[in-house]
Amino acid sequence: MIYSNDHAAFDRQHLWHPYASVTKPPPVHWIESASGVRLRLRDGRELIDGVSSWWSAIHGHSHSALTAALRVQGEKMAHVMFGGLTHGPAIELGRLLLDIAPAGLEKIFYCDSGSVAVEVAMKMALQYQQARRQSEKCRFLTVRGGYHGDTFLAMSVCDPAGMHTLFSRVLPEQLFAPRPQCRFGEHWQPDDSAELAALLAKHHAELAAVIIEPIFQGAGGMWFYHPQYLRELRQLCDRFDVPLIFDEVATGFARTGKMFAAEHAGVSPDICCIGKALTGGCLTLAATLCTAKIAQTISQGIPGLFMHGPTFMANPLACAVAAASIKLLLNSNWQENVAAIERQLRHELEPARNLASVADVRVLGAIGVIEMRQPMDTAALQQFFADQGVWLRPFGRLIYLMPPYIISTSDLTQLTAAACGAARLQAVVSNGAQGWAIP
Ligand SMILES: *Cc1c(COP(=O)(O)O)cnc(C)c1O
Repeated sequence: MIYSNDHAAFDRQHLWHPYASVTKPPPVHWIESASGVRLRLRDGRELIDGVSSWWSAIHGHSHSALTAALRVQGEKMAHVMFGGLTHGPAIELGRLLLDIAPAGLEKIFYCDSGSVAVEVAMKMALQYQQARRQSEKCRFLTVRGGYHGDTFLAMSVCDPAGMHTLFSRVLPEQLFAPRPQCRFGEHWQPDDSAELAALLAKHHAELAAVIIEPIFQGAGGMWFYHPQYLRELRQLCDRFDVPLIFDEVATGFARTGKMFAAEHAGVSPDICCIGKALTGGCLTLAATLCTAKIAQTISQGIPGLFMHGPTFMANPLACAVAAASIKLLLNSNWQENVAAIERQLRHELEPARNLASVADVRVLGAIGVIEMRQPMDTAALQQFFADQGVWLRPFGRLIYLMPPYIISTSDLTQLTAAACGAARLQAVVSNGAQGWAIP
């Protein structure tokens, strides 16, 4: 007992947690193990993981098919470098990915995390333009309200209200169209893409690429927008000969009800980033896919090579568990499972709309969002959620649910009841000077 107290103190004193202070550390739960949708705390309590551990554990935790894949691969080899070597798990995963990826994507670059997949995509676009002797095309256009990761080029295309000011001296200045206003499921408003069209018309000669999260903007505001926006963006990119990058790191692997969110619009990107749910939440792995045209152009330029190559590229353990996760998904009834979660989220979150503290309720696929009018005291809510037996992590004015697809109706009801209860609590905080929304 003395030891365990010391261990908790060690965490508080020495371990940095995401977006946190290490001198005034936020409260944390100590998780001993996890299985299915449940996280087991050291004191024996259980919490239902309502956010799939940052949207990755789509099959729940410790799924036997995934732990078996890890064990089998671990006994063969945990890792070999990918420079000059290859292996079965990388090839098998590649085949599975090309079978399900948006049409036209043929080449795969494996990398470490979603942010790195975005860096790789942006580097691909830059090398593509250089290979075409158009190296002046080196800026990126995106929309406000986006999130693409925490590394530098990725940060430069995140919503400028976020961390831009902190790093403004080193971040390249990109171009921002307004956040798409027209919602998913509403009537399309033709003027929604007007400013985007104007920006492309004016700046296409300096643009390396356009980057956007298709249909669902995640950590930048949990917002669903109209598929027509993507269709018009695809047309604009074609007209002005600007490559289009989709960041499917959050949306990939069925989260919005389609295998990839691009399918809602029936369009394909030239470059596509995937991550998060790729390994079913077991290990860090991401990938950047591109068309043959992008790959061939890069390869015909100078130096004719794509200049990126992480140490742990195509890690065999991660590739093996990713392949197992995709097979598990394809062999499950995922369309019906996600549709059932969507129906239940709509039904059970809708009553929150009547609360004076609630600004909006929105649902798509296995994503449910309650947007509050005021920022919330997330530390107080963490205690409230633990008392309700759930793990949810609201940020800013947003309480959201992204459960594993295997969740039972009664467990999902426990989550939605806790989310609505939190909305009723209205634990409001005056959110400091910056008012940052920390996911
Ligand atoms: C989470 C996320 C990233 C960053 O992924 P990491 O694995 O955290 O680096 C990039 N883009 C989107 C859309 C994301 O949701």
